[in-house]
Amino acid sequence: MDLFEYQGKQYFARFGIPVSPGGIADTVDEAVERAEAAGYPVVVKAQVKVGGRGKAGGIKLAKDPDEVRSAAGAILGMDIRGHTVHRVWVEHASDIAKEYYASFTLDRPAKLHLGMLSASGGVEIEEVAATNPEAIARLHINPCDGLDEETARRWVDSAGLDEEARAQAASLLVRLYRCFVEGDCDLAEINPLILTTEGKVHALDAKVTLDENATFRHPEWEELAGAEIEDPREKMAKEKGLNYIGLEGSVGIIANGAGLAMSTLDVVNQVGGKAANFLDIGGGANADVMTAALEVINADPSVKAILVNIFGGITRVDDVANGVIAALANVEIRSPIVLRLDGTNAEAGRALLAPHLSERVLAEPTMLAAARRAVELAR
Ligand code: GDP
Ligand code: MN
Repeated sequence: MDLFEYQGKQYFARFGIPVSPGGIADTVDEAVERAEAAGYPVVVKAQVKVGGRGKAGGIKLAKDPDEVRSAAGAILGMDIRGHTVHRVWVEHASDIAKEYYASFTLDRPAKLHLGMLSASGGVEIEEVAATNPEAIARLHINPCDGLDEETARRWVDSAGLDEEARAQAASLLVRLYRCFVEGDCDLAEINPLILTTEGKVHALDAKVTLDENATFRHPEWEELAGAEIEDPREKMAKEKGLNYIGLEGSVGIIANGAGLAMSTLDVVNQVGGKAANFLDIGGGANADVMTAALEVINADPSVKAILVNIFGGITRVDDVANGVIAALANVEIRSPIVLRLDGTNAEAGRALLAPHLSERVLAEPTMLAAARRAVELAR
């Protein structure tokens, strides 16, 4: 689960990582209140889960209430690479002397944690990695050993951070590593990590991805998840316990298993269509699950055709067919449905479905044929 910047900063603060004081606002008036509390000058920052907000105009400095009004007015409602800004974070502005980069992730092939540190921060790290790879100091950390202050200090030296920033940066990195491990992050990234003109080192941005496998250890994550969902389709799906991701196309997809759902997206693309969603109904393709899946997809006005792609393994196709039949009776479907059912008990499943087929409910024998038909119907 990705966090918004403000949530990431709140998470950092728990581990003693210095961040600027600030507050969250949904409206222009609220933004002014937050600015008064944080102290001028402030920076008004779009809260969307996508990078490059600065370049897109989603981050503005303001020195008085009028400037906060115009900044927040411009940013709220703005579209940043497909993400609508519903909220801004307003924090006391920092005077930047230097911008660095710091992150921890998991290096899977090496089976070690990987720290990346650079004196060339502020720009995208992919860009630094491509144009100036030696500007990134990499540190592999064995999770059993952890990261101590001394190692952090040598790492900071090797990255060439400014002398006056080194001690503070080393201690901040030890805390960031603790946040990464104890906080169960897949990614903890600060870009930029800054040295202020007053000689203080702190996090100006926060990019945190939590490892959802660790949710059971973190009852406090629940409120973070609540703030995350904005797509009404995803919200509805989550309430129904479905694994759903909304996309931009017109073919609604239901498949069993994440792998099959991904392949279905690929095949729809291959035949010239665009998927409206990713929906993996998992192993239990019974009537309730199928009904819930069809309801969610049906509620999406951009869907023009639905492709149901089921390969029965442990799940039996005749059970799925009964699920589909019951769901069709429960839900008034707006768009035509193309079914591809194969695998265990496929014959029996198809036989059950046969009397229910029509111009609006079609069956195709293969994934490719079904995708072609669904894409045609979606046009
Ligand atoms: P991103 O563009 O989405 O990565 O957003 P960041 O939070 O990293 O901000 C982008 C840039 O805005 C930073 O690299 C800074 O140059 C600038 N910026 C952000 N906060 C401040 C601030 O408090 N003071 C100043 N002077 N610039 C800031
Ligand atoms: Mn940034």
